[in-house]
Parts: sequence; structure tokens; C-alpha cells
Amino acid sequence: MTVSIRQALDQATTALVLSDSARLDAEVLLAFVLGKSRSFLFSRPESVLSGEQSAAFAAFVARRAAGEPVAYLTGCRGFWTLDLQVTPAVLIPRPETELLVELTLTLGQQVSADDPGRAMVVADLGTGSGAIALALASERQHWQVYATDRSEQALVVARQNAVRLRLDGVSFTQGDWCEALPAAVCFDMIVSNPPYIADDDPHLQQGDLLFEPRAALVADGRGLRDLAIICEQSRLRLRDGGYLLLEHGHEQGADVRALLTTQGFAGVRSERDLAGHERVTLGRHAAPGENTHA
Ligand code: GLN
Repeated sequence: MTVSIRQALDQATTALVLSDSARLDAEVLLAFVLGKSRSFLFSRPESVLSGEQSAAFAAFVARRAAGEPVAYLTGCRGFWTLDLQVTPAVLIPRPETELLVELTLTLGQQVSADDPGRAMVVADLGTGSGAIALALASERQHWQVYATDRSEQALVVARQNAVRLRLDGVSFTQGDWCEALPAAVCFDMIVSNPPYIADDDPHLQQGDLLFEPRAALVADGRGLRDLAIICEQSRLRLRDGGYLLLEHGHEQGADVRALLTTQGFAGVRSERDLAGHERVTLGRHAAPGENTHA
């Protein structure tokens, strides 16, 4: 029996009823199987699949129906302007994280305004697929970007993304948070999207999170432990006037502001994502003796 693109998509959309993006999932998977763009599917709905294509598509739809994230099935996910490769060793980059990139780019402009020729030195802690570091490097070729991760497997993915995207200026190092950064370097900005989900959060039993690395998602202390460690360590690695920017859960804004304030950061504030949730909190590393409430 032959199946057209239109029929294959209709059948798959029905099979994926439990996904809240069934039609889109079906389109992305079929485009991937055919090696075409999604727009090809719309322009050639009557075109017939080969037996091999039908079988490959059916296998992907079955895996998706069992919950596997689309990004792990296709091995890629768009973030910022980049096509990133992802594997189950890394968190799937989220659109919310683009807020962190945007804020970092804007602040960087301000920080370097006094001295426009100077190369900014920036660290992305817990880089995963490399999403944040590579987005920054793609926008600011003259910045010196360091990216760290505790997971060697994640760093393999991040390094491959850097090579594929020809963003070879990023330095990758392995280790925990600031401990992975070269000791002699002083940073203008440190940014991170660390694990921040509490271990008893019911979202962990839902959707893509079930398949993502737990170490990239979950932190002790109601999800705040790694955020706290990063605040404490970053203070010692930022130059005076440098910035720390942290992504966090939508109910953690007040907690993260308190963490930064306790560590003596100035001008601490949270920014909202497109859904209106407090998503990124940032602060400036105050010079000794500076009034941090100013
Ligand atoms: N920095 C990566 C991202 O934002 C990975 C974050 C993580 O694993 N917690 O996608």
C-alpha cells in the first residue's frame, strides 16, 4: 500500500495524540526522514513515500509516541540562530535560554562601552550542548568565550558543535562550575543555566524531562544548591564591575536575588521571559567599599 506525505502526516498526528505538539512533531520527523525541509511537505503533499521511508518514519513515530524527545530522535535543535547537535548526554536547549543570551549581549555592550576595543572575557558554566557559549561567540567574534561542563560526554557534543559551526574561538574545559575555569583569567561576565529543578518536582515525570540527563536538571536544596555555589564562586572570579547572569525556575526569582545580594552583588534584578516569568537574575560584582544598594 502506498502512502502520500499527507496521509503519513495525518496517521502520525493521530498516533501522537499524547504529544501536545503532535502535528509539528510528525512534520519535523517526516522532513528528517526525507532529508527535506518542512516546507517541502507542504508543497508536495501528494508525493508518495518509498517503503523504506514509510518504515523509517513509522519507527520514529513509535519512539516519539513512547515519549522520546523529537530533538533526540533527529539529533538536532535550533537555538538562537544556530542548528545545534544534541544527544541524550545534553539538555535540549530551550527557547527561554535565549533571554540569557540577549541580556549577556546587551550588558557586554554596556560594559565595554568605556573601552570599545577591549575583548570581553566571558564564561558559560555548564554549557551542555554549548548553546549559550556558541550563541555568544557567533554574535561577538572578538569576545573570549570559555565554556565548562562537569560531563565529558557533554563536552564532546559541545566541541563538535563548535567545530561544525566554525566557532573555534571558544575554549572548553571540564570541571565543576568555576573550578573548571583557568585560574589566571579574570572574567567580565559569568553566565549559566544550571540545574535548578527540585528533586520532588512532578515535572520531572513529564515530557522531554524524563529522557534528559538528571544531572542537567536537578539540584539539591529545592533546586537552589548549584545556583548558590555559582554565586559564591563567581564573586571571586569576576573583575570589579563584572556581571553574573543566572537562569532559574520561574518561582525562584526572589531566592536567587537573595543569593546574589548575600554575596555582595550590586544592582541585582530579575528579567522576565516571553511567558512573563522571572527567568534570569543578574547582578554586578561591586568594587570593594562600593555601596551595593545604590
Ligand atoms: N547551558 C546549556 C543550555 O542552556 C545546558 C544547561 C543545563 O544542562 N542545565 O541549554
